[in-house]
Amino acid sequence: FHIPVPKNEPILSYTPGSPEKVTLKKAIADARSQQIEIPMYIGGEKVYTQQRIPLSPPHDHQHILGYFHEGDAGHVEQAIQAALNAKPQWEQMSWEHRAAIFLKAADLIAGPYRAKLNAATMLGQSKNVFQAEIDSACEIIDFLRFNVAYMGEIYQQQPISSPGVWNRVEYRPLEGFVFALTPFNFTAIAGNLPASAALMGNTVVWKPAYTQVYSAQVLMEVFQEAGVPDGVINLIYVDGPVAGDIIFKHPDFAGIHFTGSTKVFQNIWKTIGENIHLYKSYPRIVGETGGKDFVIAHASANPKAVAIGLLRGAFEYQGQKCSAASRAYIPHTLWEEVKNYMIEDLKTFRMGGVEDFRNFINAVIDERAFDKIASYIDRAKEDPAVTVVAGGGYDKSKGYFVEPTVLETKNPQSLTMCEEIFGPVLTVYVYNADNFEQTLELVDQTSPYALTGAVFAQDRYAIEFASAKLKHSAGNFYINDKPTGAVVGQQPFGGGRASGTNDKAGSLLNLLRWVSTRTIKETF
Ligand code: GLU
Repeated sequence: FHIPVPKNEPILSYTPGSPEKVTLKKAIADARSQQIEIPMYIGGEKVYTQQRIPLSPPHDHQHILGYFHEGDAGHVEQAIQAALNAKPQWEQMSWEHRAAIFLKAADLIAGPYRAKLNAATMLGQSKNVFQAEIDSACEIIDFLRFNVAYMGEIYQQQPISSPGVWNRVEYRPLEGFVFALTPFNFTAIAGNLPASAALMGNTVVWKPAYTQVYSAQVLMEVFQEAGVPDGVINLIYVDGPVAGDIIFKHPDFAGIHFTGSTKVFQNIWKTIGENIHLYKSYPRIVGETGGKDFVIAHASANPKAVAIGLLRGAFEYQGQKCSAASRAYIPHTLWEEVKNYMIEDLKTFRMGGVEDFRNFINAVIDERAFDKIASYIDRAKEDPAVTVVAGGGYDKSKGYFVEPTVLETKNPQSLTMCEEIFGPVLTVYVYNADNFEQTLELVDQTSPYALTGAVFAQDRYAIEFASAKLKHSAGNFYINDKPTGAVVGQQPFGGGRASGTNDKAGSLLNLLRWVSTRTIKETF
């Protein structure tokens, strides 16, 4: 096995006048001026339908970027059939050739497609240039390259043999097709969910969120140019329940690779349970779902580090990361300083469209998200236990803009401390610094989720104590750092409890879910 040892893709800086900035600006201008027609891809064919749905930037909802073509039940059937038809040849292909295809995809994104994919992510999902670069450039490239290395490690795991007996384990792809159901908030996740299953020899039906179609189209162009054979990844835009009704009743349904809401995932799990007698095999169910991610500071913490961790953790990409900091527990001895730092720094946050690279806060993804976030803010304003420390405004006249909002609550169980909002809203509970232990209890008990969390402290006993107390409260636990921004190969990402199956995206553990091993004993 000679697999290139991957390194993380460096983040480009897009400083004024830099070549990458010039190229990206042009890609954004091109994308804004053309009206693209986006097809589905079934068996390698582009499929256009009568059902054209317009796409707009969330920060400029009157501007039309293009239209995507929505399919129906028949297209779902066709996509499944195309995946099953492509399967025998794809799973026979030796691993080097599968690896080469996805390594080439990574190189294409690192090079010629970088600007196009970033522009699509910026315009389609309202991500600022930095958020796009770490997602639709670096993270997807890392997923593709590191997964190849992990695949190599998996194949090398072999049992022991003895003279006269050769034991081996064959890492077969799953029997049937894999369904990738992907979210809007990371282009990298949207690409990785189908690609990782395909890399291991599976064929895939991929259904992205309707709010990520613009960058999904570019990913599909990359996959095709890299040499992913026809039918290996089939991209469909079909209403969720319509697609689910066919996919989850299909005898060859072999597994789902999911990132999205807890509610949808739980419904899918139930449906799979109800249909279990229909399938040839027990399907693999791999899901990353919601979060209500915490930050707890100990009295020994550095207040400035806490404030920066909160601001970045809560407000980057408008808080629309499963990992976003959304509830904080700050000792009364630090709160004034943390609060004042946050208030001052928030004054420098610019809000607006992604085309102006100085804007740090952009729009939330769509009207439904906007209304939901606004309603949480309204209810918080009516709650006598809650004070608005910063922000609290919203406006959807041009784009779906919500101000970064910091709430302080006297009630650690108030609504915005408990429920996932998926927007730029951070709620802070100020605790008596003597009650660190009880507050850790509160952190653990307040939410059913367990995705990410952070503890800030200088006192090593406090760090040790919090790590032990919060053992099951987060799948990604950060010490003196914000709870977002996991890097492939460095912090494998995923959580337990209501946050998912914790099969760690960007890890060997995840890839293991896409194979079903055969043990072979041969006696000479
Ligand atoms: N991996 C991302 C992070 O560490 C979050 C992924 C998600 O939002 O699903 O911030």
